[in-house]
Amino acid sequence: MRKLILPLLLISGTAFGQSKLRPAIDQKAASIESKVIEWRRDIHQNPELGNNEFRTAKKVADHLRSLGIEVTEGMAVTGVVGVLKGGKPGPMVALRADMDALPVTERVDLPFKSTVTTTYNGQETGVMHACGHDTHVAILMGVAEVLAGMRDQLEGSVKFIFQPAEEGIYEPGVTTWGAKQLVEEGVMKDVDAIFGLHISSQTEVGKIGYRSGPAQAAVDNLEIIVHGTQAHGASPWSGVDPIVTASQIVTGLQTILSRSVNITQNPAVVTVGAIHGGIRHNIIPEKVEMIGTIRTFGDEQQALVHKRITEIATNIAESAGARAEVNIQKLYPSTVNDPELTSKMVASMEAAAGKENINYNPPVTGAEDFSFYQREKPGLFIGLGGMKKGGDPTKTPSHHTPDFYIDEGGFVLGMRVLSYFVVDYMGMKK
Ligand SMILES: [Zn+2]
Ligand SMILES: [Zn+2]
Repeated sequence: MRKLILPLLLISGTAFGQSKLRPAIDQKAASIESKVIEWRRDIHQNPELGNNEFRTAKKVADHLRSLGIEVTEGMAVTGVVGVLKGGKPGPMVALRADMDALPVTERVDLPFKSTVTTTYNGQETGVMHACGHDTHVAILMGVAEVLAGMRDQLEGSVKFIFQPAEEGIYEPGVTTWGAKQLVEEGVMKDVDAIFGLHISSQTEVGKIGYRSGPAQAAVDNLEIIVHGTQAHGASPWSGVDPIVTASQIVTGLQTILSRSVNITQNPAVVTVGAIHGGIRHNIIPEKVEMIGTIRTFGDEQQALVHKRITEIATNIAESAGARAEVNIQKLYPSTVNDPELTSKMVASMEAAAGKENINYNPPVTGAEDFSFYQREKPGLFIGLGGMKKGGDPTKTPSHHTPDFYIDEGGFVLGMRVLSYFVVDYMGMKK
């Protein structure tokens, strides 16, 4: 019986969530490749920093409108959100691209190289799409065109989120991210699931990488102030030395990773990046200030690491007769790919790229503000290859550097996999 039933299920098309729209997606995506490359080059040559993506946003909004997509502009400052209503009822599937560039001076010799300059934190600098967000915008504009062409057959609606400031806004008194702002403005309220991708300069074109569960780290700022009692450097017994105490705290913090965190599940990082205390060789100062960064995967691990930091710092200080003040500022949450959604979408990734081109990624200690959407609704964030085929990832410039370079050969795959996610997800929800 089995042998008979299985082929029948496959023929019926939508079995296992596989949409019959895939061939039409492949055809359309391939046919607009040169247009997508042109958009990308134009955006690359005209990069804009977070919350200043006015030109990029206008380009996106004009394009979405030309496709008959309902557009809302000016969300979270420069964000553009478009809704494509499908011909049939079904879920709302969101796709996201980030639009911001970085204060990096481009060194790559390209005909569409950025020559834009600005003043950032009081310094003259170039502006460059050194994280590849230009490619995300162009790919998602392409996906909008692919899916708008088949709207009557869509069993649900698609929300295209073009967000500002993924790299964050760190101005005096303001620390925020485009995704966080958009969530606060309610962008996820009517969304059932969200998908996104990040191009990678160190992964070959044609490959897709993903990880189920916590995939990218949460980032928190750490500040510890050790209060002692000032004394003459020649008579330390007459005071409480915050420098010796701070040294013990720095060493103590490293035992969190070796003794408290289950390293077989996920890594974690506690880095003290700066220590300030004292003014002269023979004065024991009153206090020492330390700052650092914490990287964790998932809420449970984050809570554990925060608790241990506080316990170690305050108790070591107490044992010395000093007092430690611990302040932890939460920045990005961990990027957590919903395990159920992820396992359902593996087939879509395999169909788009070929089984042999799917990598199961190790956890990444860098962060991504896509995490803010995933705290609202199930989401999946994947990596897309952008390194020339046959390139050596160890010799390829990394993201955020002046030599960062993306091979344009992976854009069609990017359009196809995002479109597959949409139609396959809709097929499953029927
Ligand atoms: Zn980046
Ligand atoms: Zn990025």
